[in-house]
Amino acid sequence: MNIVLMGCPGAGKGTQSAKLQDTFHLKHISTGDVLRAEIASGSDLGKRIAGIIDKGNLVPDELMISMLENIVKATDKGIIFDGFPRTVAQAEALDAMMKRLERSITAVIMIDLPESEVVNRIASRRQCGKCGAILHITPGTPANKCPVCGGELYTRPDDTPERVKHRLEVYHTDTLPVKTYYQRSGSYVEINGDQTPEKVFEDIVNVLKKVK
Ligand code: AMP
Repeated sequence: MNIVLMGCPGAGKGTQSAKLQDTFHLKHISTGDVLRAEIASGSDLGKRIAGIIDKGNLVPDELMISMLENIVKATDKGIIFDGFPRTVAQAEALDAMMKRLERSITAVIMIDLPESEVVNRIASRRQCGKCGAILHITPGTPANKCPVCGGELYTRPDDTPERVKHRLEVYHTDTLPVKTYYQRSGSYVEINGDQTPEKVFEDIVNVLKKVK
């Protein structure tokens, strides 16, 4: 089973991917996490990437596609693609790659969230620098330790209100056409993301039961 999880920034792709990975024993590939790991390594490539993602822009397609191919080839497990594809060129490259590797996309799931919710959600989002857990803190509550592993929590540099506004513009221009691309293929399903994480997960599992 190979799943593409789509949704605007803050829709809950990371949270749902973690649950899906555990429940269905899948490999979770978050291209955002892959890029943040490259930045953390301090490499020249990481410095170049930081300059792009901290502004809320997209990393060039060719770089993303080659990074992704190496990770996909290294696993025999089913995959959750989280944050990829973000452009139609990436969607086409993913189709071609899956065909070459004799694999296929089982379902494309869009977690649909009203934009009015996005800013609120992202304002409360923190990520653990050690285990990568994504948490939402109550506004005004000081919280700097991860309840999962005790690591330091941080606010992503691209989670400021201005950057989020820009990321939503990029999402509209570059990523929403991917929805039309997949709608044509017939494997596309939308889930209401404006519900508790547990209910969103239940809805995703119900979709997967039908397509498995
Ligand atoms: P995410 O963690 O999915 O919110 O991604 C954080 C940032 O990483 C995005 O705003 C982009 O700058 C970059 N990024 C992640 N995935 C991709 C992708 N598939 N193509 C281009 N840039 C990406």
